[in-house]
Amino acid sequence: MLTKEQYEVLSKKAIEYLDKAHIAITDEEKANIEVAEYELGCPEKIGLELVVYVNTERCCAKELVLLPHQTCPEHRHPEINGCTGKEETFRCRYGKVYLYVPGEPAEKIQAKIPEGFEDCFTCMHEIVLNPGEQYTIMPDTFHWFQAGEEGAVVSEFSTKSQDEYDIYTDKRIDPAGKRHV
Ligand code: ZN
Repeated sequence: MLTKEQYEVLSKKAIEYLDKAHIAITDEEKANIEVAEYELGCPEKIGLELVVYVNTERCCAKELVLLPHQTCPEHRHPEINGCTGKEETFRCRYGKVYLYVPGEPAEKIQAKIPEGFEDCFTCMHEIVLNPGEQYTIMPDTFHWFQAGEEGAVVSEFSTKSQDEYDIYTDKRIDPAGKRHV
């Protein structure tokens, strides 16, 4: 569980990053920034900050903020009751994002795998997103990502988000307990 102090620090930092990316959000949105920490107890290593703009039956849009080297853990969005899983597009707005999907592994990845979590990351095909660059992840495809040393702001456009069905490589993560991307 995040403490109130941790939440305050992380959400304040997220607001600063959104400002650096010139993304305007309302005071109400600022007060309701979500912090995903996956109940792993190290939100600055494995976690992210989110502003959810919309999540309807058909579409979802979010802003994701990652502090320097903060990591979204490896997961996939499976088919649910015969409905295709979530498809998502990540567009970098600020900083740099290292995104990993199945495929030819990089000789040496540029992200730093969080210490103690080496078994929880299996995809090593590297995609680097700089501001203005984007990548689409098809349904049911494992992915994870990490910000570079300046942190990152990423816009996410997707089909409906149903976090509770997501499948994580790290089995300690309870999808029903957390918000994620
Ligand atoms: Zn995802």
